[in-house]
Amino acid sequence: MIDIKKIETLLHNKKIKSTAMRNVVLQYFLNTEKAISLKDLETEFHYSDRTTLFRTIKTFKEKGLLHAIKDGSNSTKYALCHKNCTSENHIDIHPHFYCVQCKNTICLRKVSIPTINIGSNFIIQSTELIVKGICDNCNTVA
Ligand SMILES: [Zn+2]
Ligand SMILES: [Zn+2]
Ligand SMILES: [Zn+2]
Repeated sequence: MIDIKKIETLLHNKKIKSTAMRNVVLQYFLNTEKAISLKDLETEFHYSDRTTLFRTIKTFKEKGLLHAIKDGSNSTKYALCHKNCTSENHIDIHPHFYCVQCKNTICLRKVSIPTINIGSNFIIQSTELIVKGICDNCNTVA
C-alpha cells in the first residue's frame, strides 16, 4: 500500500512536485533496505517509460532525496538520503556495505567515515568507503 501522505510530505520537503511516477518510485525506495540500481528499477517498473524513470532518479538526486553509491559493481546504485540533505550539501556521509554473496549494497547510516589526514596541501572533496563481505542475511542462511 502506498502511504500517499508520507510520500507527499517527503517530496514536498525536498521541493519536488508529486507525480504518479515519482510517488511509486519513492515508495519503492522506502520499502527496501538495499540500494537500488537503475537496472533494478527497470525490472520493477518494466511497464514504465525508461526515460521518465531515469529522469525521476535524476531529479531525486539533484534535490537531495537520493545519493549515488559506487560499490565496485558495474552499476551505480541509489539510496534514500537523510531528510536534511540538499543537492549541494549531503549530511549523511556514511560507509556502504557490499555483500559479495547476494550482491546487495546497504547504507551503514549509523557508522561515520573517519577523517583522513593527508596533509595540508590536499583538499578533500568527498570520501567514499565501501566495506565488502558477507551480510548478516547471507550469514544466517544455512
Ligand atoms: Zn544525502
Ligand atoms: Zn548478502
Ligand atoms: Zn548510503
